[in-house]
Amino acid sequence: MLSLDLSGKNAFVAGVADDRGFGWAIARHLAAAGASVRVGTWPPALGIFTKSLERGKLDQSLPGDAEGEWSPAKIYPLDAEYDTADAVPVDVAENKRYAGLDGYTISEVAEQLGADLQGEGSGKLDILVHSLANGPEVQNDLLDTSRSGYLAAIGASAYSLVSMVQRFGPIMSDGGAVVSLSYLAAERAIPGYGGGMSSAKAALEGDTRTLAFEAGRRFGIRVNAISAGPLASRAAKAIGTIERMVDYYAENAPIQKELEADHVGATAAFLCSPLAAAVSGETLHVDMGYHAMGMIADTDLLTED
Ligand code: NAD
Repeated sequence: MLSLDLSGKNAFVAGVADDRGFGWAIARHLAAAGASVRVGTWPPALGIFTKSLERGKLDQSLPGDAEGEWSPAKIYPLDAEYDTADAVPVDVAENKRYAGLDGYTISEVAEQLGADLQGEGSGKLDILVHSLANGPEVQNDLLDTSRSGYLAAIGASAYSLVSMVQRFGPIMSDGGAVVSLSYLAAERAIPGYGGGMSSAKAALEGDTRTLAFEAGRRFGIRVNAISAGPLASRAAKAIGTIERMVDYYAENAPIQKELEADHVGATAAFLCSPLAAAVSGETLHVDMGYHAMGMIADTDLLTED
């Protein structure tokens, strides 16, 4: 029997703060395949996430035939807008949601994680997942986006992947895998996905190819992206039209089913497994086939006169 076996592997999933998004679904699929999964959580969402976990309010069940419950092996505060401690502005460091926390920049988390893995004897990280994005002006058309809003979207949503591969790469095992999350707006115009977020996803997909080459040569790891269909996650609700987008996809995609976070979780587990050992630099659509359409399906052209 062919099996997707990640037992003995160490995974870090950045961008988990509740049980409704892709990060959580990916984490529970990696756990169901046997990996030990740590997560990175944005400091402003950390309190509510840890409280919800402690109070048993999150769906911790494992998918498929796996038995038992999943829980992160460790939660690291992570703000992927900052690479090093000296890059954190004073007003952020002193903000009440950050005060009392330290070590939440990308380089510091990589360092702590490396030390934690060394301490356990296993030493290396095998799987790195980037499942985060932020665009403060996402509700503005690109045409109405400010320079600072555009650069903030690119910084938090695309450069953060470059920085993470740069800083986590040295602690990753030969044959390790990186996966990030993209969206069709990288390739096609999507009304309502503004604020430079389409630009950030285009950068993310381009960087996936270049990082696949460079990190493949330097660290021996694979780098891929998943271009996911719409999901009404907490982040996506900021777009404002997400529920209508979900219905639109379900009506017009080749497979007329609503995308679930678990569909993406399962594909990510595959991409991070030895089954995908020859896949790198790829952006894989997990969207019920919607990206393949050139015309919407409910057009009058399809009905006979
Ligand atoms: P989500 O809310 O579960 O995940 C986004 C996470 O990013 C949150 O946990 C948030 O706290 C975190 N985050 C925001 N800014 C951060 C920062 N500076 N540092 C660290 N973490 C930060 O929502 P999701 O929709 O599952 O998003 C995950 C990924 O999937 C994102 O890259 C998103 O663009 C992508 N995606 C989402 C959809 C969709 O329709 N939901 C479709 C395609 C791709």
